[in-house]
Amino acid sequence: MRFASFRIDGQRCYGVVSDRGIQPVSDQFISKYPDLKSAIAAEVLEDAATTAGSARQWAHDAVEFEPVIPNPGRILCVGVNYMTHIREMGREPPDKPVLFVRFPDSVVGHRQSLVKPSASGKYDYEGELAVIMGRPGRHISRGEAMHHVAGFACFNDGTVRDFQRHTSQFTPGKNFFHSGAFGPWMVSADEIPDPATLRLETRINGEIVQQGHVGDLRFDIPVLIEYCSIFCRLEPGDVIVTGTMGGVGAARTPPKWLQSGDCVEVEISGIGVLENRVIAE
Ligand code: MG
Repeated sequence: MRFASFRIDGQRCYGVVSDRGIQPVSDQFISKYPDLKSAIAAEVLEDAATTAGSARQWAHDAVEFEPVIPNPGRILCVGVNYMTHIREMGREPPDKPVLFVRFPDSVVGHRQSLVKPSASGKYDYEGELAVIMGRPGRHISRGEAMHHVAGFACFNDGTVRDFQRHTSQFTPGKNFFHSGAFGPWMVSADEIPDPATLRLETRINGEIVQQGHVGDLRFDIPVLIEYCSIFCRLEPGDVIVTGTMGGVGAARTPPKWLQSGDCVEVEISGIGVLENRVIAE
């Protein structure tokens, strides 16, 4: 099943996505579980789908999508996690996952505008697979890890390269307001038994710039969950963004920086297409 967070007539809602449209959960359901994160935490997604089978249905372009989880407790991102990207950035393969965090207001939802900051001309794209946590836990073993996953989504870890490289810390370059994207929706984990088989493709104005298999991750999803849960209790709705593959704009000759008006698409097989246009700050 696919679940999206969105606004309709300004009202925050969430619901079930089909090819025909989006069915919001019932008003009664939303009064009990006000957002997708709370429904994941209560393990009631199947009930959410049942209550959404009412008469109401909106076309995909009639709603304003929000980030899949608009209010995550954590967005943990993994850097340099594909060999193709490690090589193009001239880095050494890390012995442990390279982690940084993004704040929730650094990302937008499907079809919302990405903001190219006025402070830099080096705004870049990074297509990635996002893992949305379900059951909470600390010290989760890699063998148990996938039982803690609620689902998967596409992510654009939009990066302001010069700010990323000002120091050894990634925080500024990864947290410009509305510089990343998270969507279009969550596909529940039962529909993706082996995420390593997924294919990812990033397109800029229709041109393919990144293409590869999620199975090429240096640290795979169970290892990432095991590692992160050593230092924090992973909570429902927390997001682990697994890293990008080769083909980013900074590594091209000449570099390919995002410009106002560009259309960025991140497509993952079995999930969908996350599409955003770039506007100037
Ligand atoms: Mg990244």
